[in-house]
Amino acid sequence: MGFNIILLGPPGAGKGTQAKLLIKRYRIPQISTGDILRTAVKEQTRSGVRAKEFMDKGALVPDDLVIEIIKDRLSMPDSTAGFILDGFPRTVAQADALAIMLKSDDKSIDHVISITVDNEELVQRVIGRLTCRGCGRGYHLRFDPPVEKGVCNACGSELYQRDDDKEETMRARLLTYESQTAPLIQYYSTLGLLRPVDGLGSIHDINESLAQVLER
Ligand code: ADP
Ligand code: AMP
Repeated sequence: MGFNIILLGPPGAGKGTQAKLLIKRYRIPQISTGDILRTAVKEQTRSGVRAKEFMDKGALVPDDLVIEIIKDRLSMPDSTAGFILDGFPRTVAQADALAIMLKSDDKSIDHVISITVDNEELVQRVIGRLTCRGCGRGYHLRFDPPVEKGVCNACGSELYQRDDDKEETMRARLLTYESQTAPLIQYYSTLGLLRPVDGLGSIHDINESLAQVLER
């Protein structure tokens, strides 16, 4: 039973929410390219400056940049017992690059969990999302509010609304997902790695379904 996991799904499917629960359960790191890119944008690094224009439009950041980020991150020593990739890969080119990267380390992907949620629910989730400036944890104004308004339960930092969580940008992100990322469902299905999970229901119940799939 391996724990090299990809969480695949459209924006708002619950990847980040579930990743935060799985990392506690299995003590493996969450690797979110979205979180890494947002930090780079905030720190105005070269990658951050380059990525920002794509993120603001709801487009994907170029493959070469994201692949470089993942290469650096996977070379850190904390992922030897497993890892949860959240938001990567998002294109076939990224998936191919990941396979080559892992192979050179004698590793491979064990499970690709594909979380499905209908588009109108996705929009409602994303436009009500609040994100922690400190640890990146997501909340929802109605579906998963923090204990104290505007403050992260986990780390106490301030919550904010992401620029790209406005409805117009979210609709663009859904189109980007359909055209560039959805083909990965077939890609990983062909490899026998796809584990579909229904993303509608309570956060807790979905987490139990994920654990069942991973421990089967
Ligand atoms: P992703 O990382 O896939 O973009 P998130 O995990 O950030 O998605 O979830 C998107 C929004 O939906 C967040 O505001 C989160 O609190 C909320 N959310 C996550 N899972 C559920 C769920 N099962 N039911 C209702 N809302 C949810
Ligand atoms: P996320 O936090 O996963 O919703 O990602 C936010 C934004 O970061 C996306 O809309 C993309 O612009 C960019 N991004 C995150 N991950 C990737 C990736 N694997 N490939 C390309 N762009 C990405």
